[in-house]
Amino acid sequence: MKARVRYAPSPTGLQHIGSVRTALFNYLFARSVGGDFILRLEDTDRTRSQDVYVKNLYDTFRWLGFYWDEGPDVGGPVGPYTQSERFALYREHAERLVDMGKAYYCFCSDDKSAAKDAEKAGLAQEQPEQEGDAQASGGFGYPRTCRGLDPAEAKRRAAAGEPHVIRLKIPLDGVTGFDDILLGRIEWKNADVNPDPVLLKSDGFPTYHLANVVDDHLMGITHVMRAQEWIPSAPLHMIMYEAFGWEPPKLCHLPMVLGDDGHKLSKRHGATAVDEFRKRGYLEAALINYVAMLGCSYEDGRDLYSLEDLARLFSMDHINKAPAVFDYVKLEWFNGQYIRMLSDEELAARIAPFMAEAGLIAAEPGAAEAAKLLAAAPLVKERLKYLSDAPEALRFLFAEPAVPPVEELLPKKMDAAGAARALGLAVELLGANDPADHDGCEAAFRAGAAEAGLKLGDLLMPLRVAVTGTKVSPPLFQSIAVLGKEAAIARAEKALAALKAAI
Ligand code: GLU
Repeated sequence: MKARVRYAPSPTGLQHIGSVRTALFNYLFARSVGGDFILRLEDTDRTRSQDVYVKNLYDTFRWLGFYWDEGPDVGGPVGPYTQSERFALYREHAERLVDMGKAYYCFCSDDKSAAKDAEKAGLAQEQPEQEGDAQASGGFGYPRTCRGLDPAEAKRRAAAGEPHVIRLKIPLDGVTGFDDILLGRIEWKNADVNPDPVLLKSDGFPTYHLANVVDDHLMGITHVMRAQEWIPSAPLHMIMYEAFGWEPPKLCHLPMVLGDDGHKLSKRHGATAVDEFRKRGYLEAALINYVAMLGCSYEDGRDLYSLEDLARLFSMDHINKAPAVFDYVKLEWFNGQYIRMLSDEELAARIAPFMAEAGLIAAEPGAAEAAKLLAAAPLVKERLKYLSDAPEALRFLFAEPAVPPVEELLPKKMDAAGAARALGLAVELLGANDPADHDGCEAAFRAGAAEAGLKLGDLLMPLRVAVTGTKVSPPLFQSIAVLGKEAAIARAEKALAALKAAI
């Protein structure tokens, strides 16, 4: 049977590292076995679902570049893929369970009052709250008030329009469990399972549990890989599969992603929304590579994998049980590696939007600007941690820096007269040499420095500051070659005048 997996986000927040990890593992698994990867939008929580989050979802995955085979935007054979467009199916299935005696109509106004009524009657039960079910259960153990109603009578009341929900009958005894691919057997006593969760709400909306199970079945999902926080929902789902007489998909609950303090990764650890990483100048290939390694291993002693490599090598057998720790420093390292792997053309194209945003080039650069950016790209390829560092590093090539204050132009232990002498010599040497010939230039400056009794560094320093506006710049002669020798000399002359005026 062809494997079919899905990523089933609820559009109630921005796509973050954890959600992308879930999507990526599903994608890699599908690719590794020649299966299908499906996107299903679980937008049944109408108060929290928002269009901006749907847009963020599409934007994020378009940027990351691994995409679903079937989904709301690309269609497919078992759509619609948006749960709010499937409501009739959920009602139909909930009613089917009622008809089979596996679920029942409940007319209690809400769980809270039902629980209070039951408490008064001495019926209160302590039940663990089910994760993902808080909205359905209100966190209260529902005292099963309506479970004993006569089914025919209940059906008549529901048909007559009396407000109701449909609840799943959790078996009163016995055990429910499943074999998690990663974690092994997990079992619950049915007596410990949240009693009789709501499947269909009074407004006709399905709960997560009903929609999730019905859709996984109708969409032919064979494997479910999702975060471990969904484990508490699993017994309800298993009971539903059993009630419908359906075979459940195989479940694999993924290890948590933690921050460096051992707590679940969240905003307080730094950026977690994928969009922030994009804006910060991470390459999607670096992010994908790093996220793929959060809780999964591939080949020994190897760190760098393309998406194709990952898809070929991924195996659920290599997922770790232990939580993964998200390490921003490691990710930064990956990003640097991927920046170095870009061709000059690619790097120029990648930094162009950042340069444009900084106002250094036009959003649609002309031929001259594009050529300059292409020439500038190799100057920073070895140094950038993020694409967003490019504007600061390359600013001097696209905008003339202000004439530096005199004290910035002074090498250590040198006064204005000494610096003026050094800069004057540097200008002379530059005029006589070709900056594109880096080695030749360096040899000439070295010889010139020796002759003048200067350290090479002291000869270069005022020139560097005059031309680039900073003490730390990309390699100087290459930079001057991109800027143009005349422009560099003109900047140096201005600085020289400032130095002379300060003598
Ligand atoms: N809609 C759920 C979520 O937001 C899906 C959980 C699951 O994969 O079953 O994560």
